[in-house]
Parts: sequence; structure tokens; C-alpha cells
Amino acid sequence: TEEITRLSCDVLVIGAGGAGLRAAIEARLAGKKTIVISKSLFGKAHTVMAEGGAAAALGNVNSRDSWKVHFRDTMRGGKFMNNYRMAQLHAQEAAQRVWELETYGALFDRTADGKISQRNFGGHEYPRLAHVGDRTGLEMIRTLQQKIVSLQQEDQREHGDYDARLRILDETTITRLLKDGNRVSGAFGYKRSNGELLAIEAPAVVLATGGIGKSFKVTSNSWEYTGDGHALALRAGATLLNMEFIQFHPTGMVWPPSVRGILVTESVRGDGGVLRNSEGDRFMFNYIPDVFRAQYAETEDEGDRWYTDPDNNRRPPELLPRDEVARAINAEVKAGRGTEHGGVFLDIASRRDADYITKQLPSMYHQFKELADVDITAEAMEVGPTCHYIMGGIEVAAEDAQTKVTGLYAAGEVAGGMHGSNRLGGNSLSDLLVFGKRAGEHAAAYVDGLEERPKLAESQIEVATSEALRPLQPTSGKAENPFGLQSEMQDINHSLVGIIRRAEELEEAIDKLRGLADRINNVRVPGGRAYNPGWHLALDLYNMLLVSNCTALAALERSESRGGHTREDAPKMDAKWRKINLVCATADKDTPITDSRVSLKRQPVPTIPAELLELFEPDELAKYLTEEELHLGLAAAT
Ligand code: FAD
Repeated sequence: TEEITRLSCDVLVIGAGGAGLRAAIEARLAGKKTIVISKSLFGKAHTVMAEGGAAAALGNVNSRDSWKVHFRDTMRGGKFMNNYRMAQLHAQEAAQRVWELETYGALFDRTADGKISQRNFGGHEYPRLAHVGDRTGLEMIRTLQQKIVSLQQEDQREHGDYDARLRILDETTITRLLKDGNRVSGAFGYKRSNGELLAIEAPAVVLATGGIGKSFKVTSNSWEYTGDGHALALRAGATLLNMEFIQFHPTGMVWPPSVRGILVTESVRGDGGVLRNSEGDRFMFNYIPDVFRAQYAETEDEGDRWYTDPDNNRRPPELLPRDEVARAINAEVKAGRGTEHGGVFLDIASRRDADYITKQLPSMYHQFKELADVDITAEAMEVGPTCHYIMGGIEVAAEDAQTKVTGLYAAGEVAGGMHGSNRLGGNSLSDLLVFGKRAGEHAAAYVDGLEERPKLAESQIEVATSEALRPLQPTSGKAENPFGLQSEMQDINHSLVGIIRRAEELEEAIDKLRGLADRINNVRVPGGRAYNPGWHLALDLYNMLLVSNCTALAALERSESRGGHTREDAPKMDAKWRKINLVCATADKDTPITDSRVSLKRQPVPTIPAELLELFEPDELAKYLTEEELHLGLAAAT
């Protein structure tokens, strides 16, 4: 029998990005014994890579901003598919969460009068992103970690043990959630360094594992983002919402090949950069959709004036929501007006002086200089769409972040609903803080209310052990290589479930993914359990496959185009579809990792209450809602 290390805590947080750390802080502040786990090194999460900033209606740069305007922008950006209550809580609480971060020691860039400065971003009506140059995520992670260290120091003083109530386990991957009936009872995983197996008893678990980007060929995401949390939740009997909505960020690097997909922050456009095709045209003016026409400039002059006089001019179309810009770039390249390497030009050099660029965008300056030998203060960058973020995710209740499994919570990118069909830039960092805090708080309260802790079942630990060790055992079939299979899956998703989709191609993708299932079960890797990346990837592949299946199925079902889901064969947004959430589940409540089948069902989107509908002009609502909804909503509002 295998040796298994046993640990126990009240609240187990899986993921140490912004959402996980904020949840852990809250659980610990509520007095709960908390463990935080991260797959990579502590501090290395997507959150650290966030560049542009955290969106919050502080109203520092334009006092007209308020939660209501932020809510409105978020719903518009998500094309009204958002869980309205999450969008409302987020808009109402983001400012408080950002200020609170300063009490933990964060220092955002300042306005001339000493307030937290805010920058413009796509889809936000007013300058709204609190930022630290283009390294905001770094400051956020640094601060949250510092807060954790300060709490550990407090525990050392009180209990003589830094880890007494808040313990960090890094380079540890969770492969399975454990359950007692419909309640979560803990989690199982392994240490990446030596393959040590762990079973952690915990009555409350918060999933904060981030995204799925590594299932796609071109992505801004790093190696850890294989949809683990989505898959863990599904297999434990929770549900996933609207997995077809994937954000392709319009501007990733396209050259050289080794850096393809790496993000070029939207701040370049927020700070004055413009997009041009190979003929030198500022093409975004040709791509303003009707639903946004009233809010965007018609001429280059008007768009340029907006940077200095936003009250009397409309914003330039380079700052449309991301889905619009990504599709426009895709169309230009397809029409033969792309750059040599299949992108378009992003030009800030001809629009801002070198000092401004190196001060506002220091990371971008270095990134291009070092990785592409391009001086962005003198030349245009070459950019194109890159898989960036998943709006779909684990179905949670808005107030307490709980999933369909009792005691299992989810926050951050892994959770669905908040961003609807398309996320606005900057709304993720604030989402992490708002819902990370809520998840931690409610997980702690749930533990307080328990009469009896759920029990760990030894039989489940045995199953989890054999699943985890499977790729290291001999096979009777043909052994498959995990790296080859990952690249096949990335190709399938990139070419058949990518930025522009068609029914036949989605069917082909579903078929091909099915073909990968058996082969993934036959993945075998040489070597032992110490630092064996082949073994790690072999386990991640199961998650990628399950989540890719959800995305392909939902993308086939939703026969309309909306936000991060574009169907060439159904190019219009359809108000009837706005009322439908697509929800994925597995057949079993405790699905083995070798079973990648999922079912899909339609579920009504909760009705937006009249007092929130009132924040919009009737003309605008008419673009999104059905006649019937309009009638009911507006009747209730008057
Ligand atoms: P993450 O920060 O992704 O952290 C996930 C954690 O889960 C990590 O610790 C990981 O190791 C751990 N984990 C994963 N799987 C497992 C497992 N099986 N077992 C144990 N641990 C696991 N958003 C904005 O709002 N503003 C921006 O300016 C911005 N810029 C961005 C720039 C880049 C380059 C990228 C990639 C994203 C950007 N985003 C931005 C999006 C935003 O950064 C992410 O959506 C957000 O940070 C996700 O945070 P999270 O806490 O949900 O997860």
C-alpha cells in the first residue's frame, strides 16, 4: 500500500492567485484553520501577470462614476448574459476591496491630488482601472502575500507556530475532491517535487484554480491553466455554466513563434495606441456594431480628442469590448490586410512620446525589446488574438459563492456567471477580491454551523491513489505520449473551437476529442515520481479533455453569436438565447477521471429585476431583451 500524508483543516483553498489568497485571508480572519495550495511556486499565478489594473468605481478621475455605471458597463460588456446579482455585488463592492488592499500595504499609482489613479479601458465608460504602471497583478499578489505573512507572524506570537492557522503548500496539485454524501469532505493530491501523496480532510473547500487557456494552441495563459478546478468540480457533482464563452484577447504577440500568444496589455490602447492594417488604415472605425454605435466616435479626430476631453467626445473604437476588437483583427487578417506574420499593427510610437511610453508601459517596453527586438517607442508592434480568459465556469450562488456541492465554493476565473458572455478588462482583478472574500467568509460560516464534520472515505482515497499513479504503471495497449496528445488537443480546439465557429467543425471537434479519450487513458510516462513533468501533464490531460468537451458541446448548442462565442453560421445575437444558460454535468456524482463524458442542459437565466433594468435606456434594452421581457420589465419599472 502507498504511503499517504494526512492533513486536516477547516477551510482548504485550492489556488493561490488573487481569489484564493483573498479567500484564505478571510477564512483565517474568521478564525478558521486554513490551508492554501498552489500548483506552481507560491506567488506564481495568473494574477501576478495581470497588467492593466483592477476596475472599481472609485470616481477619482471622473466623479460621475458610480457602481451603477460600472454595473451597466459590465452587463453591456457581457451582452446581458451576466448573472445580474454577481455583476451588481461586484460593482457595489469592488471599490471597498481596492481600498482595503491599500490598508494591506498596496500602493497604486496616484492622481496629481494624491488619490488612487484610474485608467481607461475597453468598455468602461469612465477611467476606472486602479493600477500600478502595467504591473498591477504583481502588486496585488505581493500585498495579499504580505497580509498572509503578517497573519502567520501573529499566529507565531500567539501559538508559537507560523502555520498554526494559515498554512501554504506550494508545488502541490490536487487531483480529486473527496466527499461524504453530497458534502465535500476534503481533497487528494500530490507534491510535484517528490510525488508524495496527500489526503487533506476539510469540511469546506474553495476552488480558485483560474482558467483553461492551455487547452488552446495560442494563449496568454501559462502551463498550469489546464482547467483543473472546472474538472474537479464537475467530477464531484457540481455544474459548469456557459463554457462556450471564451475570451480571445485581441492583442497577443504574434512574432517570434516562441512568444506567440503572450499578452500585449489593453492599456496600450487605453493610453492612446491605435490598430492599423498593412495598408496603414485605422480599421476599427469599420467595425463598430450597431449596439455600440451611439457610444463610439465616428471619426479619428473625435476619437483622438476623447483622450483629453472625454466629456464632449466619444471614445475611439479601439476601446470597444474585447470580443469586437478580436473579431475585427481576425477579419482584417483573413481579408489579406494582415502583417507579414499574420497579425495587425498596434502603434503607440507615432502617438505618444518615448518618455510617456516607458513610464506608462514599462513591462511592454521590455517585453518587446527582449523577446522580439522591437522598440515600441519607435516602431509598431505586431499583434493578433490569443486565448485569454474563460467567462464560463463553475455554477455558483451569487451571495455565498457555493456550488451545487455542499461545502464546495468557487471564486475567481474558475467560477462562471459574473462576466456573462464577455469580460471587460480589469473586471477580473476586482472579481477576485469581491468573490474571493465572499467565498472565504461563507466557507468559514458554513464550518461554524456544522454539527458534525463530513468524514473522509478510505475507499475514495484508494481510488484517487490508483488514478494518480496510473500513468506510471505498465499498460497492455500502445503507450501514448502526453506532450504529443496535448498538442493534438490544442490544435483541435484552436482550429475547430476557436474564435470563429461553425456547426460542422464543432461536430468534428467533438468527434476528435472523443477519439482522444482512449488514447489519454493509455498515456504512460517513463521515470519516477520526483519532478516528472510527463506524469504531471498526463494527469492534467484528463482535465483538459473534460473541459474541452464542455466547451465544444455548448458551442455547438448555442446557435447564435454573442460575446466570446461567434458562430459564422449563426452570426446574429438572438434575444431568445439570452434567456438560456447552458449547463454541463457528468452522469455520475463521483465520476472517475477516465470518464470524460458530459451532458448538457438548458436552464433559464434569472430575470433581471426592474430596478436594475431602469439603469438602461429602453432603446438599449430593446437590443438585448425579447419583446415579452421588455414588456414585463418595463411594466414593472413604471
Ligand atoms: P489564478 O491567478 O490563475 O491562480 C490560480 C491558482 O490555482 C494558482 O495558484 C495555480 O497554481 C492554482 N492551481 C491551478 N490548478 C491547481 C490544482 N490542480 N491544484 C492546486 N492548485 C492549482 N485581469 C484583470 O482584471 N486586469 C488585468 O490587467 C489582467 N491582465 C492579465 C494579463 C495576463 C497575461 C493574463 C494571463 C491574465 C490577465 N487578467 C487580467 C486576467 C486575470 O489575471 C486572471 O483572470 C486572474 O488573475 C485569475 O485569478 P484567479 O485567482 O482566479 O486564478
